[in-house]
Order: sequence, then structure tokens, then C-alpha cells
Amino acid sequence: MTRRQRIISLLEGRDYSPSELAVALGLRGRGSRRLVIEELKAIQKVLKREGKVLRIKPAECKRCGFVFRPEINLPSRCPKCKSEWIEEPRFKIEPR
Ligand SMILES: [Zn+2]
Repeated sequence: MTRRQRIISLLEGRDYSPSELAVALGLRGRGSRRLVIEELKAIQKVLKREGKVLRIKPAECKRCGFVFRPEINLPSRCPKCKSEWIEEPRFKIEPR
């Protein structure tokens, strides 16, 4: 199984944050979450053709509760209160 196929198989089971996916795949280091984000963007395109959808629970500021847009991204700072204490978005694959 390729890394991309492993991510798809994990996300069909339950939802994951980018950090949790990096751990599940055995990825380490600074760039690991970014790598997961790039894979998720590619996966979203593939899913459209398969009649499935990548559900996104948006990132949220843990300080003021600001909810980000549901995007495949890792926001680093809250636009409202400038806090960097951000809950990561979560992703799951579901039938459309
Ligand atoms: Zn905030």
C-alpha cells in the first residue's frame, strides 16, 4: 500500500487530525504535518471521482473559540485574538 492509500484506509475508519495521521504513518519531524496536508489535498481530488467526500471539521481557536473555514490547511494563528493555541482540523472520508 502506498502512503496515500494508507491515509485513505485510515480516514475511512474514523476521523484524524494531521498530527494523528503523521503518528499513524510513522512520519516524524517538522515537515510531517505539512506532508500530510499535501497528501490530503491530492486525496480530495481522487475521492470526487469515486463518489466519496472528505469531511472536514474545521480548526478552532482554543482560546476564544473562533472557528476557521473548513479547509485542508493548518492555521498557525487566530485572526481574532492572535492566539497560536489552535485545535487542528479533523478529516474523515464518507460516502457522498
Ligand atoms: Zn482566538
